[in-house]
Amino acid sequence: MADGTKVAVLGTGIMGYAMARNLLSDGMEVRAWNRSRAKAEPLAEDGAEVADSPADAARGADFLLTMLSDTDAIEEAVGGDVLSGLAEGGVWLQMSTVGEEGNARLSEMARESGVPYVDAPVLGTKQPAEQGQLVVLASGPEEVRERSEPIFDAVGSKTVWIGEAGAGSRLKLVVNNWIVGLLGVLAETVAFSKTIGVDPSKFLETIEGGPLGLPYAQLKGNMMIEEDFPTSFSARLARKDAGLVLGSAEAHDLQMPVAEAVAGRFDEAIEAGHGEEDMATVYRAAKV
Ligand code: NAP
Repeated sequence: MADGTKVAVLGTGIMGYAMARNLLSDGMEVRAWNRSRAKAEPLAEDGAEVADSPADAARGADFLLTMLSDTDAIEEAVGGDVLSGLAEGGVWLQMSTVGEEGNARLSEMARESGVPYVDAPVLGTKQPAEQGQLVVLASGPEEVRERSEPIFDAVGSKTVWIGEAGAGSRLKLVVNNWIVGLLGVLAETVAFSKTIGVDPSKFLETIEGGPLGLPYAQLKGNMMIEEDFPTSFSARLARKDAGLVLGSAEAHDLQMPVAEAVAGRFDEAIEAGHGEEDMATVYRAAKV
């Protein structure tokens, strides 16, 4: 059913690249654009067309899939005649993490162009993206849901539909606060452990397999112990997400001092030049 569906993918970074490959292996036609063209070019070997501009990618496409860093980047890329160039009935699947305010700005852009907009951020990182195992938090108009499913099925293992556009981004913020907070406290726990003379591997071994032993803690905890941070999700983007959470909290008059403190730790690691490393690099700010 998906054969021949034309998808324009804007952004072939860690996530977008893997997603584009999975669309191709599900038989879709992919036209990919990336600001740094070199990152999109290897997709040509899998059958993608590499476009020179977002408008070239979007022209005549059934779907526009955006997977860019943040709202400003998306606004910049999707401005101009990108949306108007989509095929009749074309749908915008916005899958980057943009938070509440970003979602409001982007859905308004779509509304002005008369293009149906699905707010569909994802859970999962580099490896799940490569394996087509993301969880899609989709929200948007009923009438385009069924049509969008094959795209989400190609990139993910599960799609949760949760209401009108914006609901997906709000749920994503909640999950991200959990993840970023977890990383912050894990970094301090590993640093604390070493400082008081407890081998942090023993801490991970102790919690493993029980209710406290999250696989995520094992994965990121071992990166901290080894001080080796190959990037699945950059510290720079984790800090962006922490900022989105804090922005929403402030807009709703909620104090979140723990989230603020963790954001400060990320700032320290980024200011020390580690922004492109995996988010587990927040450990660098916690250790003595
Ligand atoms: P990434 O590897 O850093 O890629 C970011 C993409 O955005 C690149 O294509 C980059 O282009 C582009 N970009 C940045 N600024 C731009 C601008 N001003 N104009 C045009 N393009 C611009 O990031 P990622 O990890 O794939 O993340 C993409 C989105 O998914 C983000 O919203 C992130 O929060 C979200 N996300 C990531 C993960 C994860 O684990 N990695 C998980 C869930 C959600 P260049 O290549 O030219 O720099």
